[in-house]
Amino acid sequence: MSKNLNNRELYIIFIRGGINMSRYLANRNTREIHDLTKKQKNCKIEEMNPEHKIPLESIEQVKEYIKAGYNGCAWCLTEYNTG
Ligand SMILES: [Zn+2]
Repeated sequence: MSKNLNNRELYIIFIRGGINMSRYLANRNTREIHDLTKKQKNCKIEEMNPEHKIPLESIEQVKEYIKAGYNGCAWCLTEYNTG
């Protein structure tokens, strides 16, 4: 790379799939799943411990995690949020 990217630029690459194809992000600590294309301040993605992050590439994978006891985020994945 010809220049250093700041965090925001790296994040834009991330959500566009340039570095990582994952659209969804599960938190193994809170057992919540976020949709990074709809993420909100309240999701607190930035505060998430990297060790708790599980990247999920497809909605099928999200559904498997939901079945296993995970919950959709109340802010960005409301269709899978059970409260
Ligand atoms: Zn969220």
